[in-house]
Amino acid sequence: MPHLAEAAVTGEMLAMEDRWGTHNYHPLPVVVAAAQGAWVYDVDGKRYLDCLSAYSAVNQGHCHPRILRALREQAERVTLTSRAYRNDQLPPFCKELAELCGMEAVLPMNSGAEAVESAIKAARRWGYMRKGIPRNQAEIVVCENNFHGRTTTIVGFSSDAGSREGFGPFTPGFRTIPFGSAGALDRVITPNTCAFLVEPIQCEAGILTPPAGYLAAAAEICRFRGVLLIADEIQTGLGRTGAMFACDHEGVRPDAYVLGKALSGGFYPVSAVVSSRDVLGVFDPGSHGSTFGGNPLGCAVAREALRVVQDEGLVRRSAEIGSWFLGELGRLSHPEIIEVRGQGLLAGIELRGPARPYCERLQRLGLLCKETHDRVIRIAPPLVIGREDLEWAVGRLRTAFSA
Ligand SMILES: *Cc1c(COP(=O)(O)O)cnc(C)c1O
Repeated sequence: MPHLAEAAVTGEMLAMEDRWGTHNYHPLPVVVAAAQGAWVYDVDGKRYLDCLSAYSAVNQGHCHPRILRALREQAERVTLTSRAYRNDQLPPFCKELAELCGMEAVLPMNSGAEAVESAIKAARRWGYMRKGIPRNQAEIVVCENNFHGRTTTIVGFSSDAGSREGFGPFTPGFRTIPFGSAGALDRVITPNTCAFLVEPIQCEAGILTPPAGYLAAAAEICRFRGVLLIADEIQTGLGRTGAMFACDHEGVRPDAYVLGKALSGGFYPVSAVVSSRDVLGVFDPGSHGSTFGGNPLGCAVAREALRVVQDEGLVRRSAEIGSWFLGELGRLSHPEIIEVRGQGLLAGIELRGPARPYCERLQRLGLLCKETHDRVIRIAPPLVIGREDLEWAVGRLRTAFSA
C-alpha cells in the first residue's frame, strides 16, 4: 500500500485531469510517471507490467535506450524544417522503410489516422488517374467492425455507434462488407471501386482474426479486379503478430501498407503510407502535405526504431514467445472465458461478460491491460519482454481468473 502522501498524488492527478481534461477516454486509474522496457511505474512508485504497449506503439519497449539516443542527438541538430526545405533524415528514412516493406515509395505523415486519410486520397486519385473512374465516383470497400482512426471521414465508415454518433454528416464513397468474407469482397466491387482497405487482424474490434486464406483470397480478387489492396498494419505491423507484417503470414504483399504506432517506438508520432511509385506517384506538389510529416526528428527516431526491431530480432521473438504465451493463455480455464485468440504477441481473451472488472483486478495484481469492446481483454506486451516477465504475467492472469 502506498503511504498517504503518495496515494494523494494519484488522487490529485485523477481529479485534475477530470477537472481540466476532456473525458473522451475511460482510463484505468493508474498515473504513470516513468517506464522502462516492459515495465511502467506510477506516481506512487508501484510498478506494473505493461501488457498493452500503448496499443503496440511501444513494441520496442518503453524508453528504448537506442531510440532515446537517436531522439536526443537529432533534437540537438535540427527538429523541423517543414517540407519547404529538404532535410538529411527524410531520404534515408524513405529508403530504409521502403526496402523493409519491399516497396518503392514512402509518404510520411504523423498520426495513424492521417496516414489512413492519405491512403484514401492516394487510392481515390489513383482510381481517377489510372483506372479512369468518373469524377467523384470512386468507391473504397471497408469492413464491418473496422478501426482506422478518429477523423471525420474515417469514423464515417466505422460501424461502431460510439465512434460515429453525433459526428455526421459523413464523407460518401465507402462500401462496407463483413470482415472475413472474400465472396462479399468479390460481389461488392464495381468498375468504380478503387481500393479495399482492411486490417489483417481487427484489433480494436476484439482481436478478430479472419479465416485462414482470407487475405490471400482478397489479394487475388483485388489483383484480378484492378482494385488496390490497402493493409492497415498500424497495429499489427512491425513484429506484433510474429511476422514483420501480418500480411506475411499469408504471403501477401498489399499494394500499400499503412504504418504508424511502433514505427517510432513510442517516442514521437510517425506514420507512413508505403506503396508503389504508381500509387504514390499520383501526388504532385501541392496536392498533399503536412507541416510535421517527414520532419528530421521523427525520421531519425523512426529509422532507429526500425533498426531496433531488426537488430534485436523482435519479429522472431514475437513469434516464439508469442506462441508459447498463447498456449498458456489457452490453458486458462474459467467459466467466464469463451475464447482465447491471437497471433504472435497479440492476444485477446473473450469473456461472457464485461472485461473491465478483470482489467481492474489485473491492475491491482500489477499487470496493466485494457478491455476492448467490452468483453475482450487485449494482451499485447512490448516485444522485448523477458520470458520470465511473461511467465509472471501468466501467473497473474491465473490469479485473476481463479475463484
Ligand atoms: C491506432 C490505429 C489507427 C489510428 O492511429 P492514430 O495514431 O491513433 O491516429 C488506425 N488504424 C489502426 C489499425 C490502429 O490500430
